Amino acid sequence: MSKSTNPLADTLSVDDHRTCRNCGTHVTNRTIGVFGVDGVLYHCTSCPDICARDMRQGAGKDPDYDPLVDRGDTSENHPIFNGGDGQ
Ligand SMILES: [Zn+2]
Repeated sequence: MSKSTNPLADTLSVDDHRTCRNCGTHVTNRTIGVFGVDGVLYHCTSCPDICARDMRQGAGKDPDYDPLVDRGDTSENHPIFNGGDGQ
């Protein structure tokens, strides 16, 4: 009984971190590595108001990211791109 390691518990523990902290969508480790911080992803492209542009601006690293506020500061944000999202 000396080997008490529970591989299933480890798997569940790891898997719990591989989700978007905002909407709970499962994400890959690669996605977390690219867009998240310290193994945590705070937003993903499945979040209601988040798109790839938001991820590039650090939405995945910022739990308080607000696209309505934080999206407005870059030259990438042209009004023409906001017209057809439908969300
Ligand atoms: Zn999400």
